[in-house]
Amino acid sequence: MKELGFFDGEFINLDETKVSLEDRGYQFGDGIYEAAKVYNGKCFALDRHLERCIRSLRELQIPVTYTNDELTAIHEDIIAKSQINDGVIYFQITRGTAPRTHFFPDKVVPHLSMTIRPSLVHEDWQTSGIQTLWAEDIRWLRCDIKTINLLGNVLAKQKAHAKGFHEAIQFRKDTNLVTEGSSSNFFIVKDDIIWTHPLNNLILKGITRSILLEECAPQLGLTVVEKAFTPEFAAGADEAFVTSTSLEVTPVISISGKKIGHGVPGKITKQLLAAYKALVKADCYR
Ligand code: PMP
Repeated sequence: MKELGFFDGEFINLDETKVSLEDRGYQFGDGIYEAAKVYNGKCFALDRHLERCIRSLRELQIPVTYTNDELTAIHEDIIAKSQINDGVIYFQITRGTAPRTHFFPDKVVPHLSMTIRPSLVHEDWQTSGIQTLWAEDIRWLRCDIKTINLLGNVLAKQKAHAKGFHEAIQFRKDTNLVTEGSSSNFFIVKDDIIWTHPLNNLILKGITRSILLEECAPQLGLTVVEKAFTPEFAAGADEAFVTSTSLEVTPVISISGKKIGHGVPGKITKQLLAAYKALVKADCYR
């Protein structure tokens, strides 16, 4: 088993330097990324990740130079070559390399790079829940694009991390409405109804969020309301949880020191996590 990289058509070691000093990803954060989870040697929900990747590229007017079949094949190759059965594949596409100008340079060719590493398993977070912190959402107004330019998210996560919390739950100061985690979507449960921010420019359309809404909640007969709510409303919730490719469904037991519900993982959260794990099992452990 070996951590591995890929850069523009070549498999490389992670410490091999390939990126040009004038790569626009490096200079401007001008690129997009995806992170997909590998279970049992198979990439889960890869089609959804590729669909979102193409959308992000189109929104940033970065030319699409790989087909979905090619991207799928590269994912399969890196899994096979690395022999990592349970891991995370991170890939990014930048606009390419050109002398630095803000406007898009002519004839620039996008760069694809990828890494695979074993996954960090956080089963204790899933069983015990995580403690989180409120943080003002200071990000730009296109959080629906999965760009590599993540400074707002980085600062929010660091604020939480520095105080010993696992995640920052962000809210917009102008509207006093909760958006999402620094690297996750955020949900609350109140009176057996699941609430989460609607899809618009203020949040990322998380793959895990989509699977939860389209598959897990309907299977369990649960109602989801896609409507923004205030931090005060969230503080009075019965349950809260975050979703992401790596966290799957992880209970949130407190925000800024205030317990959510009884301060333990909620019943509906646990049901959703079990339903999500069952989907992974059906897809990757056949
Ligand atoms: N929101 C943000 C800001 C994120 O960074 C992530 C994780 N990339 C998510 C939500 C969850 O997305 P997904 O379920 O596709 O991992």
